[in-house]
Amino acid sequence: MGAPHVSAPVPLPADDDDDRTSFSKESLKRAFFDHLFYTIGKFPKISGKNDLYLALAHAIRDRSLQRWISSTAQYNQTAPRTVAYLSAEFLMGPHLGNHLINLGIADSVREAMAELKLDFNEILRQEEEPGLGNGGLGRLAACFLDSLATGQIPAFGYGIRYEYGIFFQTIIDGWQVENTDKWLRYGNPWEIQRAEWAVEIKLGGHTEQYTDDAGYLRVRWAPEKTVVGVPFDSPIPGYRVNTTNTLRLWRAEATESFDFSVFNQGDYLGAVSKKVTSENLTKVLYPNDETTQGKELRLEQQYFFVSCSLQDMIRIHLARGGAIGDFDKKFAIQLNDTHPAIAIAELMRLLVDEHLLPWDQAWGITTRSFSYTNHTLLPEALERWPLDLFQRILPRHLELIYEINARFLNDVRIHFLGDESRISRLSLIDESGERYVRMAHLACVGSHAINGVAELHSDLLKHGLLKDFYEMWPEKFTNVTNGVTPRRWLVLSNPRLTSLVTNAIGDAWVTDLPRIRLIEDYIDDAAFRQEWRAVKRANKVDLAALILRRTGVKVDPDSMFDVLVKRIHEYKRQHLAVLHIVTLYHRLKSGRARDPLPRTFIFGGKAAPGYHTAKLMIKLITSVGDVVNNDPDVRDLLKVVFIPNFNVTQGQCIYPAAELSEQISLAGKEASGTGNMKFAMNGALTIGTMDGANIELRDQVGAENFFLFGHTAAEVRHIKTAGYHPGDYYHSHSELRTCLDLIQSGFFSRGDTELFRPLVDNLLRHDPYLLLADYQSYIECQDLVSQAYRDHEGWTRMSILNTARSGKFSSDRSIREYAEQIWNVKPVPVELYDEAEMEHTLR
Ligand SMILES: *Cc1c(COP(=O)(O)O)cnc(C)c1O
Repeated sequence: MGAPHVSAPVPLPADDDDDRTSFSKESLKRAFFDHLFYTIGKFPKISGKNDLYLALAHAIRDRSLQRWISSTAQYNQTAPRTVAYLSAEFLMGPHLGNHLINLGIADSVREAMAELKLDFNEILRQEEEPGLGNGGLGRLAACFLDSLATGQIPAFGYGIRYEYGIFFQTIIDGWQVENTDKWLRYGNPWEIQRAEWAVEIKLGGHTEQYTDDAGYLRVRWAPEKTVVGVPFDSPIPGYRVNTTNTLRLWRAEATESFDFSVFNQGDYLGAVSKKVTSENLTKVLYPNDETTQGKELRLEQQYFFVSCSLQDMIRIHLARGGAIGDFDKKFAIQLNDTHPAIAIAELMRLLVDEHLLPWDQAWGITTRSFSYTNHTLLPEALERWPLDLFQRILPRHLELIYEINARFLNDVRIHFLGDESRISRLSLIDESGERYVRMAHLACVGSHAINGVAELHSDLLKHGLLKDFYEMWPEKFTNVTNGVTPRRWLVLSNPRLTSLVTNAIGDAWVTDLPRIRLIEDYIDDAAFRQEWRAVKRANKVDLAALILRRTGVKVDPDSMFDVLVKRIHEYKRQHLAVLHIVTLYHRLKSGRARDPLPRTFIFGGKAAPGYHTAKLMIKLITSVGDVVNNDPDVRDLLKVVFIPNFNVTQGQCIYPAAELSEQISLAGKEASGTGNMKFAMNGALTIGTMDGANIELRDQVGAENFFLFGHTAAEVRHIKTAGYHPGDYYHSHSELRTCLDLIQSGFFSRGDTELFRPLVDNLLRHDPYLLLADYQSYIECQDLVSQAYRDHEGWTRMSILNTARSGKFSSDRSIREYAEQIWNVKPVPVELYDEAEMEHTLR
């Protein structure tokens, strides 16, 4: 790697520090050098930036380890009810900065590094973030782990240790190009492999009946193959508490005794290739967000991590002296969407086939353990597995699902007196054409609680997508509005705003976000408003530098930063924002823009590699950008940039610099959104629809501090039932017509009239997400935004009020609601183990 960064010789601190993991600067420096020598095996002169990062990461990990071990010891002693958060995705973001903030040593480490003449920020930037998620769902899981630990709630995150996370996005000639994400390339100092807790996982094969010693008929699963799941643990520190929970991710490996028959015949390479096949299981994260594909490997991944995790929970429960029949008293298992829903059948298999419990007892344990969070309103995102595929991989689970279904449909029959159409609608098996297993149905039947992630979403579930289940069990349904952690999304990402707020009102808001409302008292303080603007302006300068590095485009920090970053999806309507840009551009070109407001439009987000329309939307954004950014007539009044590879690290730079947050999905499509919350906390104003948590955000910040546009979910339903004709809007609205014609004419595609035809044709003919119906309202609302922005003081007041009133959207509040209403778990304060004492007991 790069040039040596330490100017040797560096005086080493005196070796008289008995507490080897103290937070003192001297102790930190000593540990840093110890790790550089003895863990990394380098000395300063030949150390690259990454070596320095690894040494620092190890030094900090040691300081989390004492708390981590203490937490585990305490949990093992007292066996409290524990949350198991099952999620196929955890989009954690970089660990180092988060550990520094939560341990409270960011300043001393910064000073220690400065004293060593090292560039602390540069070292922090070395960490490759583990991109083990697609977007909002995976990031929610990460925010929840932070809030669980900070709330001192015993919890495990259980998931998959993908060797390749979400692809790395580059933009070439305006198109998205995917590159593999080799995040483990330089090692991962934040994980510890726990080979001793590996478990075996069966796949495929068939089942056999047998009679046990007591004369009971039982079922045995004879698998086609087995793989081994090996856990890798990472510490999850709470903020300024001893509690440090565990994120346990599973990696697939070949069984030790793989295929000796083949081996003995001398087919060594054949045997090794089987080993490779086993390890493919956790090789790569599926890059589809909000869609499913019914791929065999994906079902294997889901089953693999779920079975590993349940076997692990049972091991822990029994090791703590628990009886198998009390399992549900000790674990509350949350299903983050249906990706882990096969856990319901798997727990039944473990309890009935392996621990020999009677069906009814096993079912009681299962339903009391599980709860299910739905994350979508898009029908195409509902997971279902072709029956033959399911049968081939999980033959025993299919039998169990049939049995669960038979008993469930019996209840339905009694409840609704044989309403046969209701029965086929509710069945766990979709028999309308090709037969499928419906995972959302399994999740609903096997859980005691079902929740949506924003008020509107939960209502729409009850009266739409999951209506039949709601009518069967209204008591199971609740809402828990999503939240985000203020530690990562304010303290870590926006240190300037954090200082300004903390200097004014103290720091209690960090773990009690509603208290940030106290800054409202400063709203009439002109000096405070001035500082508020200075913070935003400095964050914009930082982002402008990032934009220049990543895109080569120079943007003006004095222009309004108008930001739309999230996964690229038709329902999220990035192309509606493009119609606005083209409208402004055309107004400028035709001299009809009176006193235009300089704006920088900042886009970012990944498209699923097979989602052609989404990729074309990226090409549209970059193509419009190329024309607009280089047109001298526009005189830098308009800039359009697409920042490649939007991820958590980039988000930490983008959200704090945003002034306008674009939350423009079609009403009734976005379950909640969490980007909307991060923006508001950081003082951006929202232009948005009545969708997801936007509604609650507007309630909180006040309608006068939120730019609302577009049809409501109810209006959308009416328009669609009445028969929607997008062409009518095209013909009746001349500005809209001009925009679409300009795109279609090849103006943004060097004369190519075919390139964007699929997009434009789709809008004119079908427009399933009602861009044309919402266009006018959006443009008028954007004109109001421009007017409002010119009033600097007024805008600053609104910005302060957005931050001040964002308290509801802390994930600490979400976790408290889950803990009280769904999990029935309580905080367990952790006492620190004394290192010296621990050594003493060993001697
Ligand atoms: C918060 C976040 C998201 C979710 O954004 P939405 O605007 O809610 O869709 C996606 N990706 C990353 C990297 C995030 O940090």
